[in-house]
Formats: sequence, structure tokens, C-alpha cells
Amino acid sequence: MELTGRSMIGYRWGEARGDGFCAADPETGAKLAPEYFSATDAEIGRAADLASEAFRVYGRLPGKARGAFLRAIADQIEKLGETLLERATQETALPAARIQSERTRTCNQLRFLAGVVEEGSWVGARIDLADPNRKPLPKPDLRSLLRPLGPVAVFGASNFPLAYSVAGGDTASALAAGNPVIVKAHPAHPGTSELVGHAVREAAQACAMPEGIFSLLFDAGTRVGAALVRHPKVKAAGFTGSRAGGRALMDIAAARPEPIPFFAEMGSVNPVFILPGALRERREQIVEGLHSSVITGAGQFCTKPGVIVLDDSPDARALAKGLGERMEHAPEFALLTAGIRASYAAGIESRAREKGVCKTALGQGTGNPGFRAVAALFETDAETFLAKADLGAEIFGPTTLVVYHSGREQMLEIARNLEGHLAAAVHGTEKDLRDYAELMAILETKVGRVVFNGYPTGVEVCHPMVHGGPYPATSDGRSTSVGSQAIFRFARPVCFQDFPDAALPVELQNANPLGIWRLVDGQWTREVVSQAVPAGRA
Ligand code: NAP
Repeated sequence: MELTGRSMIGYRWGEARGDGFCAADPETGAKLAPEYFSATDAEIGRAADLASEAFRVYGRLPGKARGAFLRAIADQIEKLGETLLERATQETALPAARIQSERTRTCNQLRFLAGVVEEGSWVGARIDLADPNRKPLPKPDLRSLLRPLGPVAVFGASNFPLAYSVAGGDTASALAAGNPVIVKAHPAHPGTSELVGHAVREAAQACAMPEGIFSLLFDAGTRVGAALVRHPKVKAAGFTGSRAGGRALMDIAAARPEPIPFFAEMGSVNPVFILPGALRERREQIVEGLHSSVITGAGQFCTKPGVIVLDDSPDARALAKGLGERMEHAPEFALLTAGIRASYAAGIESRAREKGVCKTALGQGTGNPGFRAVAALFETDAETFLAKADLGAEIFGPTTLVVYHSGREQMLEIARNLEGHLAAAVHGTEKDLRDYAELMAILETKVGRVVFNGYPTGVEVCHPMVHGGPYPATSDGRSTSVGSQAIFRFARPVCFQDFPDAALPVELQNANPLGIWRLVDGQWTREVVSQAVPAGRA
């Protein structure tokens, strides 16, 4: 398939005019053809109009039809074969094996969510039957379920060109819930985005979806994204990226005449706490695990452990030494974009200048071209860490900070001072867990996921997963961007009072034709409801 460089507005191509830009090969910095063109204001408007029209049809389709569409997208992505793998590798410098496993994850995620909507119980149907004899007032018949919101704007992430991009978690969960999607492609991988956009479009046409179900807009700046979030026909948005970008868009969403739900997953430092028993028993093993978690994907994961907290002891110093030795020998990395490379270089330079912080390991640079960076390890003490908020900020790339504390109380103070993160990890023995129970109680209030004797990287797509966390990890700590609960970001509850059975959504009808789980008079059941709804209640 030949790349066009043009946006996709429903089933049509956008114009080849407006501001142009090219992807770059992170290994060399060289431009990659073709030239891409930023969507015009008219194209943004057309995509939003089409999506709004499509919503009237798509939002009412049965879960089975939406599931078939999600499965067709996965099939079409797989059909892209080597073309997709080659382009994604070229645009990101991520190893082919990583891109391959990301493609598997993306397709599995689409099929997983297809299964969820095909089964149908996710709508959380609740039924309280009428009680005309209730005193002092009769009780009406009340039935509720989750309904989609309308067109959703999705921002592709730079660091997951497939799994958090055009047909990634945000798109899959928005479509699963019944919403059309308009993707603003990340300018770091426009070719990968176009290929996947093509797959979504093929699937939409094969499944006879209404035209505006999906559009893909390109831009090398912030104009298109901001205009999308402002557009009155866009009803929600999903974002993965920087705190600055997420916050700016979140503020735009809130400042609209009609504010909309905006889910941003932003920076996170994902602290790892190593407790004394674990440090004594498994030091070498922890060094290995930490090293891999910090440098995998060149540290460009939102779940990378950016702070390691442990008590100041010979064992702790030996752990940091082992980690430093490995980081010094780590190969040079090519980061995703020139911007990410520049932020990384500025971040480690400024950290090295902080009083009380020691740069204890630095990888060897080769002077090769491209967006190169080397791993860096920093160490500091708890007083310095607690006094300087900057030390708790994300540096996106292959670096981490070891923080030595003087004992239990200081460690708990560090935990209490944490802002919101996506994840935290605790290494400990059973005795450590008993001795440090308070640490777990604090962490539960600070993160979306607490990992025991493991590392924050590696996010399973499944029902219980929470890839979220209090602000600033996300804009809304009540949700998650991974797993089946991600659907809830793009749905809202609607209640029907005293409706005749035939006029209710099928999920709420007495016969339960879909056989879904429902909360009937406070009991979860898949049974039919036998009581007829009294007609014409005021
Ligand atoms: P980014 O700068 O936040 O950009 C993400 C997307 O949002 C891009 O499409 C970008 O458009 C758009 N955008 C950013 N600011 C905007 C604004 N004010 N108005 C409208 N649109 C806006 O993230 P990035 O390019 O992926 O990487 C930059 C930094 O983000 C990294 O150094 C890292 O700190 C962080 N990051 C975090 C995560 C995470 O999962 N937590 C993931 C990736 C990156 P343009 O690029 O076209 O301007």
C-alpha cells in the first residue's frame, strides 16, 4: 500500500495542502517520505460532522455488530503484515520484536474488547421494579444502563505506535462503547498511523459502518488537536503524552461552553520501594529486574521506575553500584523524536547540577547521528529529595534516581509526599509487609496499581487492570486507559422511568433477550423479569 501523506476524513482523503512535515528515522535523523499535510479547519469540521451523523447509527448498533467491527480491525491490521512492521520500526527505532509484540497486543486488545461488548453485561443494567403499594408513595419502575457519549477525539502516543495510537486502547474502548472516533495522529509516526488508519477504514467499509465512524487527522503542531477538543460536536477525548500537553488540552475541554470528559494519561515516575528483608535476600535479582525495567524501550514507558527508594545501608549502596555498572554498559539508545531527545538531555543535565544529587553512572556515547541518548543513574538522600520537587518529576528516557532514607519514618514521609502516579512497586518479604503495612496504605492512595516483588513496566490487558492514578498521572483518577474498565470513560448512565417494555433498550427489557447480567431489585441475575411495568404512571 502506497502512503499518501493525507488525512482520512470518513471514507475520503483530505487535501494535500496546508503545512507539510515528514517523519524522521531516529537512528539517523533523516527525513522519511512521504510529506504529510496538516488537516485544514474545513477537514476538522467535516470529520466532526460525519462523526456526529455516524453516532446516530453506530451508537444504537447491538454489541455484536460493534464486536464484529473491532475484530475486523484486528484482522485488517494483521493483513498489513511486514509493511506495517517495517514502517513502525523505521519511524520509532524500536526493535522489530517489540513492534511485533505490540501489534499482537493491539490486536488482542481489540478482540478482548470485542468479546466484552458482544457479551454485553458491561452496560451495567440495573432494574428496580415498580411497587405501586409502597407507602407513603408508590415506587416507579426504574431501569438504567450505560450509553455512549458521541464522537471521541483520540491523541496517538509517541511511545506506543500501535498499542496507544490509531487503533490503540483509547480508540478500541471508545468504539467498543459505541462512539465514533477521530484520531489526531502523532507526528512521530505518521506512516504507521496512515497504515493502521487504512486498516480501520477497510474494516469499517467491510462491516458497512456509517462513513464518519472513523477519521484520521495529521498535524505537526498543536492546532488540529486543540481545534478537535474545542469542536462542539466532539463529546469526549482520550490522550497519552506529556503533562504539559495533557494539561493544556484538559483545560481546553473544561473551558468549552459545554465542557466534555477528557481523559489524559500523563507523566508518571512510578516509585519502587525496596524494603530491608528483600534487599538482604534478593539484591542481585532486584538489580537485574530494575535495570531491565529502566532501560527497556530506552526508558520511554509511562510506567518506567523513575525513583528507587531504599534505606541507606551497605546492601543498598551495593544495589546502586550494581545498577550503575549495568547502566554504564548499556548500549546507546535512539530516542523516539528530536524533542524527546532534547528534553532527556536537558533533564539529565539539570539533574546533574542539583546540589545534593550525584550522577553515579553514565553510558558511553558513540557520536552516531540520530536522536541518541545514553543511560544515566543518579543518587540522592531523602532530605534533598523531599526538599526539591523537581527530583520527583518524570525524565522520559533511560534514567532513574536512587533515594536513600534514614529509616521507616523517613520512607513513609517520602511516600506521603508523592503526587499521583500510574504505578508503584514494593519489594519485600512477608515480614517486611507486616512491618511496613502503613506504606501499602499510603501507596494505595497515590497510584492506580501497586506491584509486589515486581516492576511497574508491563501492563496486562485484562478485566482488573488499572492503568490510571490520581492527578497528575491522569486527568481523572477514577478510571483506566487499559483493560475492560477503559470503556467506562466513554459512556454515561441513563435511567428510564416507567417505560413500556417494548420501548426500552433491549438490555433492560423484561425478557433479557441478550442474557446479560443485571442488578434486579438489588440481586445480580441473568433471569427474565416477570413483573409487568404498570402503564401510564405519572
Ligand atoms: P506530547 O508533547 O504531550 O504530545 C502528545 C500529542 O498531543 C501530540 O499529538 C501533540 O501534538 C499533542 N499536543 C501536545 N500539546 C498540545 C497542545 N497544547 N494542544 C494540542 N495538542 C497538543 O507528547 P510526546 O510528543 O509523546 O512526548 C513529549 C513528552 O511527553 C516526553 O518527553 C514525555 O515526557 C512525555 N510522554 C509521556 C508519556 C506517558 O505515557 N506518560 C508518553 C509519551 C510521552 P504535536 O506533537 O503535533 O505537537
